Amino acid sequence: MLLFASCVADAEWLGDARPMMGTEVSVYLWSDDPEAGLATLEAVFEEADRIDHLMSTYKDDSEISKINRTAAESAVEVSHELYRLIARSLEISVLTQGAFDITYDSVGQHYDFRERQRPDDETVMSELENIDYRHVKLDDMSATIRFQRHGVRINLGGIAKGYVVERGIDILRSNGIEHAIVTAGGDSRLLGDRRGRPWMVGIRDPRKDGEVAISVPLQDEAISTSGDYERFFDEDGVRYHHIIHPGTGTPADGVHSATVFGPDAVTTDALSTSVFVMGVDLGLRMIAVLPDYESIVIDAEGQVFFSDGLEQPADPTVE
Ligand code: ADP
Ligand code: MG
Repeated sequence: MLLFASCVADAEWLGDARPMMGTEVSVYLWSDDPEAGLATLEAVFEEADRIDHLMSTYKDDSEISKINRTAAESAVEVSHELYRLIARSLEISVLTQGAFDITYDSVGQHYDFRERQRPDDETVMSELENIDYRHVKLDDMSATIRFQRHGVRINLGGIAKGYVVERGIDILRSNGIEHAIVTAGGDSRLLGDRRGRPWMVGIRDPRKDGEVAISVPLQDEAISTSGDYERFFDEDGVRYHHIIHPGTGTPADGVHSATVFGPDAVTTDALSTSVFVMGVDLGLRMIAVLPDYESIVIDAEGQVFFSDGLEQPADPTVE
């Protein structure tokens, strides 16, 4: 979750934050016509709700739940929208050498962070074989999905919030809004600037609740942070959190938070999860080959690492 280092207090700024998708979705926008602005704001929340109903594994009647129930038996027809996001997820799996993998949920489903529940070693070992994005087959011609094994499950939790943010920004733009922020959990996109100034986006201190570790001036960019403090419980000195290493089936360690920014929130969302899994070295090496994307990683010792493109005079400051 991001904190905004500066407040939006002007009367013409409209905003709201609502609990959705197991997190908070918020929209702030500048509007010359408050009534039209409020209607646009509402449209963004409606869109977030629609996407949640399509993609939530917690809803039995969602399209994704239907896929998880039946795609191992036979090919399932998928809506164009979901098909595209699954295809994008599989591309990012290739790019990240499997660090991003929507089949993580074969193990992930056995966690309940609120109830402090986690799978035992035996369950992890047996479900681990079901984690591999290559078990998921898409067929462009028939627009269907098929799982090649029983036990495979997919979950778009690492990319769906970025998609909500992108769709929200599309709605704002097509309604003539030029200055806005849309945030879903740890994923944000900034439209324009803060009327003459850049937005200051704070990256949370992973171990000090409510404190900002680094502020980054941004405009017209997407920014995503994945942290081990979003959904977790501690047990015997071990932190069990919601980002699963697909190679081990257990929460990825070594990193406290990974932030990625660049032009597209779907990509920054998936990449922040990926960099978290890959760790400082591999993660930043992967970011280095993507010209439009940069990253800031805070490791388990609290040390901050910046991707190459950030080592310029305009560096964000570490407080
Ligand atoms: P947040 O939900 O805080 O924005 P992320 O964007 O990093 O954080 O997403 C974490 C979510 O991604 C988890 O709750 C889970 O749904 C999903 N996930 C966990 N591990 C992986 C993984 N290795 N690959 C893809 N998705 C994952
Ligand atoms: Mg993510």
